[in-house]
Amino acid sequence: MKQCMTVIEADITTLGVDAIVNAANSSLLGGGGVDGAIHRAAGPELLAECRTLGGCETGQAKITKGYDLPARFVIHTVGPVWHGGGQGEAEMLASCYRNSIQLAAANDCKTIAFPAISTGVYGYPAEEAAGIAVAAVAEALGDYPAIDCVTFCCFGTRSAALHREALAAL
Ligand code: ADP
Repeated sequence: MKQCMTVIEADITTLGVDAIVNAANSSLLGGGGVDGAIHRAAGPELLAECRTLGGCETGQAKITKGYDLPARFVIHTVGPVWHGGGQGEAEMLASCYRNSIQLAAANDCKTIAFPAISTGVYGYPAEEAAGIAVAAVAEALGDYPAIDCVTFCCFGTRSAALHREALAAL
């Protein structure tokens, strides 16, 4: 079966995929934005499991169960804070997508949804981030043929349009 990449505008906590990706901070102990929404929807057991993980470095990813979420797993990845683009931000952002897909594949996930990592509080310019997200996922899918479908779950019309444009430009 051909692998798919799709763009939707939705709240990622509502998606019944195998794994949703969380744009976490390095403590993995919760925060605002999509991180806060995921912890609220998953319930307190998610934070309890996160406490056992010892944090996560920028560009890396760790996996937990999904608890009260419809998704079976949460993959927590830490995006780069935008400092102007000269501090390896693009490589770190791509590595978030690549490492999340690797971890999903290692846990037999076939369907994964990503938020637009780093484009909220971390300040990554949305258009550049969308291009990196789509390119990194397309490349990683080639290495993990068991993954069926990756959804870019965007918050807002502009973010969704940017991801659609990036997909069309592939
Ligand atoms: P970061 O700290 O990595 O920038 P944020 O959570 O501040 O993370 O924002 C990342 C992206 O997630 C932003 O585009 C934001 O609009 C989006 N977002 C926030 N809440 C949700 C949600 N419930 N579902 C999907 N995307 C969300």
